Amino acid sequence: MAGGDKSVSEGEISQSELNTSPNLPNMICPHCGHKSRIRSSAQITPTYRDIYYLCQNIVCGFSWKASLTLVHGISPSACPRPDLDLPMYEVPKPALPAPKPEDRQHHFEI
Ligand SMILES: [Zn+2]
Repeated sequence: MAGGDKSVSEGEISQSELNTSPNLPNMICPHCGHKSRIRSSAQITPTYRDIYYLCQNIVCGFSWKASLTLVHGISPSACPRPDLDLPMYEVPKPALPAPKPEDRQHHFEI
């Protein structure tokens, strides 16, 4: 442990983790339409992250909090966490064609 950092065990997420990663999504200021900057973010749960933005237009100065939420998995993990119950995307099944009138008659001819 160096610099007073709290150690976090593998798989555990620090509640106070701050991240100004450029990999987080950019947002346009909803008021003036200028670019914004991420001031900080915090991983709250394995599937939820708070992100704090600041508008870069010095005249506007709006700041806001947004959230990043995992909606569903697309491909299963090769190392899944047993305590994580995530919905998986399901390919929509094609709609069945409507039965023809002559098909309906066969069901009632018994
Ligand atoms: Zn703005």
